[in-house]
This record gives sequence, C-alpha cells and structure tokens, in this order.
Amino acid sequence: MLTGNQYLDSIRDGRRVYIGKELVKDVTTHPAFSKGAETIASIYERKAASENRDVMVSEEGGEEFSTYYLQPKSREDLERRYETHRLIASWTQGFMGRSPDNFPSYLSGLATQPKLFNDLRQGTGDLLQSYYRKARREDLYMSHAVTNPQGSRRAGDEMDVAGIVSPTLRVVGEDDEGVTINGLKMIGTGSVYCHETWVGNLQPVPPGQEAETITCAVPLNMEGVSIWSRKPYELSSGREFDAPLSARYDETDAAILFENVKIPWERVFLHNNVEMTREIYFRTPGHSLANHQANIRFVEKLRLIVGVAHKLTESNKAGSIPAVKSTLGKLAAQLASLEGMVRGQIFDCEKMPGGFVTVNRRFMYAALHWCSNNHSKICDVVRELMGGGPIQMPADSSVMDDPEIYKKFQTYWSLPDQDAKERMKLIRLAWDILGTEFAGRHMLYEKFYAGPGFVMDLYSYQLAGWDALDKVVDDLMAGDNHSK
Ligand SMILES: Cc1cc2nc3c(=O)[nH]c(=O)nc-3n(C[C@H](O)[C@H](O)[C@H](O)COP(=O)(O)OP(=O)(O)OC[C@H]3O[C@@H](n4cnc5c(N)ncnc54)[C@H](O)[C@@H]3O)c2cc1C
Repeated sequence: MLTGNQYLDSIRDGRRVYIGKELVKDVTTHPAFSKGAETIASIYERKAASENRDVMVSEEGGEEFSTYYLQPKSREDLERRYETHRLIASWTQGFMGRSPDNFPSYLSGLATQPKLFNDLRQGTGDLLQSYYRKARREDLYMSHAVTNPQGSRRAGDEMDVAGIVSPTLRVVGEDDEGVTINGLKMIGTGSVYCHETWVGNLQPVPPGQEAETITCAVPLNMEGVSIWSRKPYELSSGREFDAPLSARYDETDAAILFENVKIPWERVFLHNNVEMTREIYFRTPGHSLANHQANIRFVEKLRLIVGVAHKLTESNKAGSIPAVKSTLGKLAAQLASLEGMVRGQIFDCEKMPGGFVTVNRRFMYAALHWCSNNHSKICDVVRELMGGGPIQMPADSSVMDDPEIYKKFQTYWSLPDQDAKERMKLIRLAWDILGTEFAGRHMLYEKFYAGPGFVMDLYSYQLAGWDALDKVVDDLMAGDNHSK
C-alpha cells in the first residue's frame, strides 16, 4: 500500500497535462493542482495510519490491500467497504467524487465475474482478474472515462464529415500484440492525479460502431496520451480562507486524448461488442458497488451542507424563528432519509454468481436518483437561508493584513457574540458550497456524474418490480366486494 509521499512520487511520471496551451510539467508542484495532489496524498497517508488500518486494510493470502478492493462475499464485507468509503469521504466532506475508492469499486465488482468475460473472448476474464490483482497490489488510483464526446454518438457519426473524422475514441488498428486506439474520451474526473484510466462505454454504442466499444486500462503517462483539463479552480481560489473548498478539493475534470496509443492485449477487456460494452457493468456488481460509494460520499457532503445551513441561521439570528426551524427540520429529515436509504442497501444485499454479494440495487439506484434530483434544490434552500450575507462582507481576507483596516473590520463587522473573522470564515465556506465556480461545477457534477436524468429514471423503472406492484392492484380488484 502506498504512503502519501510514495503516491506523490508515483505521479511525477512525465504525464502530459494541458491547461489551455500550457503543458504542466509536474502536477504535484503546479499552482493549479498542488493542493489537490496533497489532498489525495493525505487520503493515502490516512488510510495507512495505524488508527485506521482495522477498517482500511484488508488481507487475502497474506497480501494486504485497501479495503475498497475487497470483493464482497457477505454483508459483513459490505459493512467494511461502507465504513471505508464513509471515512474516506469524511476526509474531504464528500467533495471529491472520484476519490481513490471509486473506480476500484467498479473494478473489484467486474473482476468477480471472469466467466462473463471469458465467454465473450477466451482468456479475457483471466486477464481482468490479473489486472484487478495488479491494481490492488500497487494500490492504484484510477479514473474512468466511459462517456463519448457530446454530439458524436449517433449511428453514422463515425463517418468522415468534410474530411473531419468523429473525435470519439476507437480502435484504428490491431495485431498480435494488441490494439491501437485513437480519439477522445470523456470525462476523466481525477485523471490529472490518477495512475491509470479505464476506458469504456456506459452509454449505448450503436451497431456499426464496434470499434468504439473498446474497453481497456491505460497508464496516464503512456506515449500518445494527454489530459486536457477544464479550468482549474485551485489556481484562482486565492487564500484558503476565502475559498476553502476550491483551494483544496478541486478533484479536476479533463478530456483525455489518445493519439495512436498501442494497448497490449493483457489490458484489453472487451472489443468489438456493442451489446456488452455497457452491459458488463450491470451484469457484474461493478456499477452497483461504485455507485454505492457515490451514495455514501453524498451523505458526507449533505452532512456538511446541512451543518452549514444550521450555523448560518445561528449567525444571522434567523435560527430561532419557527418557520426557519421548520426549514432546517426538513433538511435534517432529508439527510436522515438518505442515510437510511444507503444503510438499507447493505441490509437487503443481493447475491451474485460465484458466492459474491452486492448492495440492494433497487435501493442504490433510488438513492442515486434522490441525490441527483435533490442536490440543487437543497442548495437553493440553503442559499435562501443565507440571505445576502456573502455580499455584506468585504471582498476578501486581505482586510486582515493591515492592522488599521482589520481594527475597523473587527469593530463594524463583529456582533456581540460573533467575531468578524469567524463570521467571514463561515460565509466564505458557505459561498464555496453554494456560489463560487467550484460550487457551480458541483451542481453539474451531482446532476450528471452517473449519467443524465432520464437514465436515472430508467434505472429505477427497470428495477421497479412491476409484476409485484401489478399484483397488489390485481389482488385487490379480484375481490368481488365492489360488485356488491
Ligand atoms: C462534473 C462532471 C464529472 C463527470 N465525471 C465523469 C467521469 O468521471 N467519467 C465519465 O465517464 N463521465 C463523467 N461525466 C460525464 C457524464 O457521464 C455525462 O455528463 C452524462 O452522461 C451526460 O452526458 P453529456 O454531458 O454528454 O450530455 P448529453 O448527452 O449531451 O445531454 C445533454 C442534455 O440532453 C438530455 N438528453 C440527451 N438525450 C436525451 C434523451 N434521449 N431523452 C431525454 N433527455 C436527453 C440530457 O439529459 C441532458 O440534459 C461527468 C460529467 C460532469 C458534468
């Protein structure tokens, strides 16, 4: 298992990360990414710390590994995974969605079902298991780019249009050693900090576009791979006091470009199969374990949001008003409902082939649906509770640099029971959850990271158990009491 420093050393590996036209030499020291890298390093450090080992470290055949690589065979294993995810999420208050425990949950789930892969192409299931063991042994931090570029997903999009080939990643060559891939893949959240990325498809690929179904694992420092970051928020966050989340928790998002990258067969897990490129995540516990992690992570974020709401109303003295108490009560009830939804996933866990288990999928997708549909609404409620507080404060914490100005700030912005600096600190944190560019990215993230809204609806539609629900209606209507 990696320590924090070993992790930082391991990503100083010649990867090509672009911010606009700038090629970043070292993400661990660049002002756009260094604090984010430190945050990830601190996760590695804390999970190896003696006080957390009982939960964070699992063992098999004498080999120790991070518990998020544990392939669950019982409810107790799911409990261990839950506690691991919960602790990791609590270290960033749920603001790093693709923390190091996210993708390994996919991979661990996928690798429980080697037969599924071996039936598709002999030997692939064994290769997947070897890759899973390698990732586990090396404590890899991985992203997954399983979305294709916007606007280029319809049948026929692979055609050249006026000499421009669709940008979507596809296989452009293959030989005894492996495949050559070319094109763009979205969205590599966390990729700037990851060792490797998984490439695949969580959206359907139309027949005729088999070359796009390639599913493989790629080291992010490989020749031909480049990571094109969106605007990094850390760079413009200023002092940590003024934007505490932007400054430390920007997990980054990026498009990943592959320019004729040669992938050896031992890293290729699916090829030329439009039906299965998406299905592998659902016929294994991959999707459910990974999105269970996302649910747990969201609970930690909601704990912070609801806590901030309460403190804001104490600060602005609205908290004792019955109508405001009622609003806070609704938020508290929402938090408790979600916690129950997540715990129920473990209580009602499901058996999977090979003696494995996964969380209850109906409950997991309901929680996912709940989170993606309620995050913005909850933020809006808290924004309203906050009133105009953020714009009643001076521009930034530089008011504390000059003794004369600081004295005025203390005199006129303090309240009898509240120091001006502490008031400003709370407001800055709240604004970073609700109003900054970082906050805006989180609104988008919670809506889309697991797919668009209509897909969220369909997950729950598919798992509703309509026959059982219809039977409730049929049984009632079968009685003849209505005809009397
Ligand atoms: C911050 C962030 C982080 C992300 N991280 C990752 C990641 O780590 N890995 C990854 O692979 N992906 C990631 N994603 C991508 C995410 O999976 C996609 O954003 C999502 O699947 C939607 O795809 P799109 O953005 O291309 O939108 P589009 O598919 O272009 O959709 C645009 C709009 O049209 C609507 N729409 C489209 N088709 C239909 C339809 N048939 N019926 C009804 N409405 C429709 C959508 O609901 C949406 O509102 C991330 C996204 C964001 C915003």
